[in-house]
Amino acid sequence: MKEAKSEMSMFQDIPVDVGVIYEGERIRRKDMFVELGGPDVKEKFELARVKKPEEVEDGKITIIGPDIKDMEEGKTYAFGILIEVAGAKLEPELEGVIERRIHAYCNYIEGFMHLNQRYDIWLRLSKKSYQKGLNSFQYIGKVLHRLFKSELPIIEKMQVTFITDAEKVKELYPQALQIYEARDARARGLKDEEVDKFYGCILCQSFAPTHCCVITPQRYSNCGAISWFDARASANIDPKGPIFEIDRGELLDPVKGEYAGVNEAVKKRTLGEITRVWLYTAFGYPHTSCGCFEGVAFYIPEVDGFGIVHRGYKETTVNGLAFSTLADSTAGGRQVDGFHGISIEYMRSPKFLQADGGYKRVVWMPKEVKERVKNFIPADLVDKIATEEDAKTIDELKAFLKARNHPVVEHWKEEVVAVPEAVPAEAAAEAGEEAVPTMVPTITAATLPITAGGYKIILKDAKIYAKRVIIRAVKSEKTEKR
Ligand code: SF4
Repeated sequence: MKEAKSEMSMFQDIPVDVGVIYEGERIRRKDMFVELGGPDVKEKFELARVKKPEEVEDGKITIIGPDIKDMEEGKTYAFGILIEVAGAKLEPELEGVIERRIHAYCNYIEGFMHLNQRYDIWLRLSKKSYQKGLNSFQYIGKVLHRLFKSELPIIEKMQVTFITDAEKVKELYPQALQIYEARDARARGLKDEEVDKFYGCILCQSFAPTHCCVITPQRYSNCGAISWFDARASANIDPKGPIFEIDRGELLDPVKGEYAGVNEAVKKRTLGEITRVWLYTAFGYPHTSCGCFEGVAFYIPEVDGFGIVHRGYKETTVNGLAFSTLADSTAGGRQVDGFHGISIEYMRSPKFLQADGGYKRVVWMPKEVKERVKNFIPADLVDKIATEEDAKTIDELKAFLKARNHPVVEHWKEEVVAVPEAVPAEAAAEAGEEAVPTMVPTITAATLPITAGGYKIILKDAKIYAKRVIIRAVKSEKTEKR
């Protein structure tokens, strides 16, 4: 979408505006005409396939199931989008990248919102745009066809199929999952250390302006839709596009995953907002999270471990918070200690939370996610990681981890030194505690975690002065952060 003028002439026959300014537009339930896919629909998908030229009729738009004008206001519908493309230079490697552009291009349409990716798509059409005349998928298909062909000239022919018939979506859904899995599997095996280039993606900056994905062979994009191979193919065909090459530069920290070139590129692409990135940890300078992540890894201070929750999980997690609440704490292009947006494919990587202990630090995840990544969890840990069937509360989780002798339990202490606190000598004497005069009444720490009431408060670059330090035996089970 390079020039406003060309946008106007390109979309004269479309009843609403089309342009980058509509990216990031949110449509609330009360303002929507209909919803397509989303959390209330189990089966939904978007898929791009590279086909032979004779298999694609350029510009053809097919609707299987009710069109928008036949839909009931306020309702939610099953949904699938199939984009089939052909072109002499098109490789199947580009399917993931073409597919991810559906997100951006749908969002260019005034009053049409697209969230997430692949099997997780969630779209809404606003009442306003419906009233303006956007009452058929034909219009949306035309916009997609024109945008794809103008932005990616490598596409010579393209046809679009919209599926709103629930039975048909259900029938095609498993095939789509198989295609995603085959694509992901293709990208496994290559190591970060074996390549000179990583790739960055800023496609989601319309929603999170300081977010920049760093896509490496072993750290899949947060949305789970773009592998290192996909990103490489995209940067090759569209070097000025949202996916770009990063010279990874010097490896500054192999455990945390800090690279000089990544720091430099991210700083540039976030206009100085994010200056350092540690790729394999959820602490310190973690990879930022936009909002499209497939799941969240969240730190549970009470057990010094990580819970994982995916977008489709409807119940509250083991710490009493729902996915949406955890996602709010994670999203927005920030680096939030202990709240980390991830893709499911990253959970299959040997680098997964490497600096934090990897699976040795994972204590809870929904059964559905565990099933999907089971073969990638070290065999001796599989039964030690709880699901919702094993633990619904922190107390149940503690009991489970202890019973299974999860590695985090080793780091729990029956007795720990409490965080120094200033207590008047008289009060300490009354409480029968030993007041220990200290020679150095100053605590200085780069990050000082304090756990209270189920929350972890981190004081960065803290300096605490105390008149006295009380060392008190803590009877209850506590943990210390490693
Ligand atoms: S989540 Fe990351 S890789 Fe995926 S589209 Fe957004 S910025 Fe790009």
